[in-house]
Amino acid sequence: MITYSIGLKNKFRGITVREGMLYEGPAGWAEWSPFLDYDDATCVSWLRAAREAAEEGWPAPVRDRVPVNCTVPAVGPERAAEIVRASGCSTAKVKVAEPGQTLADDLERVEAVRDAIGGGQVRIDANGLWSVDQAVQNLKQLQRFDLEYVEQPCATVEELADVRRRTDVPVAADESIRRAEDPLRVKKLDAADIAVLKVQPIGGVRACLEIAEQIGLPVVVSSALETSVGIAAGVALAAALPELPYACGLATVSMFTQEVVAEPLLPTNGFLPVRSVVPDPLLLEAARADADRTKVWEERLSRVRSAG
Ligand SMILES: [Mg+2]
Repeated sequence: MITYSIGLKNKFRGITVREGMLYEGPAGWAEWSPFLDYDDATCVSWLRAAREAAEEGWPAPVRDRVPVNCTVPAVGPERAAEIVRASGCSTAKVKVAEPGQTLADDLERVEAVRDAIGGGQVRIDANGLWSVDQAVQNLKQLQRFDLEYVEQPCATVEELADVRRRTDVPVAADESIRRAEDPLRVKKLDAADIAVLKVQPIGGVRACLEIAEQIGLPVVVSSALETSVGIAAGVALAAALPELPYACGLATVSMFTQEVVAEPLLPTNGFLPVRSVVPDPLLLEAARADADRTKVWEERLSRVRSAG
């Protein structure tokens, strides 16, 4: 087990450094990187995902490349357009509802992205921060930019269901699936048109494939901001899904200031290749956390092992 500590180019979820553990098993390399604010019980499914990667490997792919979106954080319109143009992607996911910003900021940013991407797709993510009324009102204005969907407009499944009945914009559920006791409630309450699945929080590629089948909704695979080792698991899921009608949120390696593999999983013309990744020994060494952080992660791992 190697503990890594890698800086992020921009603050994300309030963090500027990403940490986790990497190890090699008989089936390949695995990443275990639950966010530091998650309790031990929450981290058990993340460990299940790592074990699958290390010990079992993943189901056979049905495609050899996976379309991905670029991600536009809560930046100004000029920067937003730049990010889209530099990405080469034909789908953009735009952060909206950023605390401290207004609907006017969101409208400017989404408009700039719509102009930059031309005939491509624009989706937005509110990370559950709107009320139902806010979501309905804001979507009335934002939908003139021809939105592909809105991800997690409100916090709860009930609210998502409400919004979905009151807007024409398709609704995607993210936090409502991966943080839920019962991910299928989204389906039972008709709360979403699209399911966002992330391999580590859900407990592996096979666990995600099972949910995808049970939930009966089109799936968008997203990352939990991993190194290329973790991203490879997301790519494996996207590659194994019977249908993949939407671009995936797996082009996040570029948010890291360092990588552990020589050829990181970065998109070319909006696609990631389906392939296994192996860390480069020198890069791995350069990303290694100091002794204190390594100890924190080793202790965390042993607690989560006994919790699971
Ligand atoms: Mg999301």
